[in-house]
Amino acid sequence: MMNRSLMFFAIAVFVTATNAYSQKAPEKIAIIKADDVRGVTASWNRFFAISDKKGVKVSAGIICNSLLEDKKGYYQWLKSYQASGKVEFWNHGWDHKRWKDESLKERREFKGTGYDHQKKHFEDAQNIMKSILGDAPNAFGAPFNSIDANTVKVMNENTDMRLFFCYNAKGLQHKVLAPMALRGEHDGTGKPNFAKFKADYQKKKPLKFAAIQFHPNGFRDKQFVEYTKILDFLIAEGWTFALPSEYVTLQDNIKKKAK
Ligand SMILES: [Zn+2]
Repeated sequence: MMNRSLMFFAIAVFVTATNAYSQKAPEKIAIIKADDVRGVTASWNRFFAISDKKGVKVSAGIICNSLLEDKKGYYQWLKSYQASGKVEFWNHGWDHKRWKDESLKERREFKGTGYDHQKKHFEDAQNIMKSILGDAPNAFGAPFNSIDANTVKVMNENTDMRLFFCYNAKGLQHKVLAPMALRGEHDGTGKPNFAKFKADYQKKKPLKFAAIQFHPNGFRDKQFVEYTKILDFLIAEGWTFALPSEYVTLQDNIKKKAK
């Protein structure tokens, strides 16, 4: 379980370290957004180990119906990564479904499914994560990044929820928006390509923030190499890597100072 005082200590260290360089927040902040945790796998372990070796903290989204069963020490596995302070888990919905309704209109878990459906899926996911990890997650990213106005309403109704991985959302209250300003996987889901990443980066420069999305459970040797090159590049470019909770604290502090 992520001990609360440890978490605040980690945030304090992060903020203090930041202040040691300058009186303001780091100039370029990235959040590594890794999607689709469903259980313990060698690929996830390898992803967390590579990131840690580079000194990069990462966040990972859980598809929460996977938490109904504690297979292969799943709960303890999550807890120990969370307690390390190097990985933060977030709410990636309940079942990650998409389907076509009778009129063949496409529905996705958080798009076109109505308030009640979304509210239940969102809150069930929050609750089961809290019951296992001790604290409710403070970040959410919808499956396929597909949302509608009901998703924003459901988010706004939950005060634990502070950070929203989303390209754009109207009407968010007291939330921090974390857009995927840099694409992590240029060759399709689970397929990062460093050369294309770099070319895209040069075009989008200068950027101050980016959530960068990956699907590490689909990585094989080649993709781990590409991912590592992306990290090395961003480190050389002077990016700071934050957990969602750290980024929220930074943004709250900036707002407080501005008042
Ligand atoms: Zn997903």
